[in-house]
Amino acid sequence: MNIRRLRPTTALVGAAALGLTTLTACSTNAGDGRTDGKLDVVASFYPMQFLAQRIGGNAVHVSSLTKPGVEPHDLEISPRQTADLSKAGLVVYLKGLQPSVDRAIAQAEPRQVADAASYTSLEDHGTEVEGEHEHGGEGETGHEGEEAHEGHDHSGDAAADPHIWLDPVRYAQVAKGVGKALEKADPDHAATYKKNTTALVKELSTLDQDFRSGLKGRSSDTFITTHAAFGYLAERYGLRQEAISGLDPESEPSPARVKGLHTIAKKDKVNTVFFETLVSDRTARTLAGDLHLRTDVLDPIEGIGSKSKGDDYIQVMRANLKALRKALGTK
Ligand SMILES: [Zn+2]
Repeated sequence: MNIRRLRPTTALVGAAALGLTTLTACSTNAGDGRTDGKLDVVASFYPMQFLAQRIGGNAVHVSSLTKPGVEPHDLEISPRQTADLSKAGLVVYLKGLQPSVDRAIAQAEPRQVADAASYTSLEDHGTEVEGEHEHGGEGETGHEGEEAHEGHDHSGDAAADPHIWLDPVRYAQVAKGVGKALEKADPDHAATYKKNTTALVKELSTLDQDFRSGLKGRSSDTFITTHAAFGYLAERYGLRQEAISGLDPESEPSPARVKGLHTIAKKDKVNTVFFETLVSDRTARTLAGDLHLRTDVLDPIEGIGSKSKGDDYIQVMRANLKALRKALGTK
């Protein structure tokens, strides 16, 4: 539905990056955060884009800073994108996930900002990546992480797990917050935003119920995944996530961690090692090969690409539920 509507907008961002002059979307933005009467919403990455599109509907133009199929954690923001943030009517992002986006927003000072992290509670899931002390378990790499901390004054947030969208209950809380932010940024369409928020929250509630019932009668609680994206989902449904790398998909597991995973897999009768669509599956396949386990996709929905098992968040979450049911031996 709205996903298709996004494609031209995304192409425009790409065109802008190439220095082309076809800035239709931006050129008619008269500095009031609108284009042709529609609110310009810039989303930081796919789960924020999905909320903006579903709640904004036809009243908004949505573009995303992270292109489809691109892993978002280590995204770098171009000067053009920073300028777009200044012009936007609303920016929807998740503080703590993409350090360069956090920095660009601080610099651009958009007129309205919706921070997903402010609408729900974040936790430190302690990623149990032994021997990775230099990363501090917070999944940030090198100097970028340190720079991000300077503009990040909530002490204690540094180690917080940002993957809140993979818990449908938390994601629904964020949807409500984004709905309110849209109402504030564009009061003329408040009724539309209210109606669309209610519909989406209902859909997420059904998804939550389906996870609860679908995971009943399982023979194991433990699943092995590539990066530690599923902490909130695991907690919501009483599961146990064992991640090969930490919160950042780029980090490599230590030999001690790999050994630990061998022990866990045997003890908890794990039959599947999950990999993702947007990051390398090499370590997951090696581990599965060594342990004679099957592999499957558990998608952290950090972007929708050609390999995604569905066209939108809801569809891919349903594919994830199916994969988990198989891996955990539900009846
Ligand atoms: Zn992630």
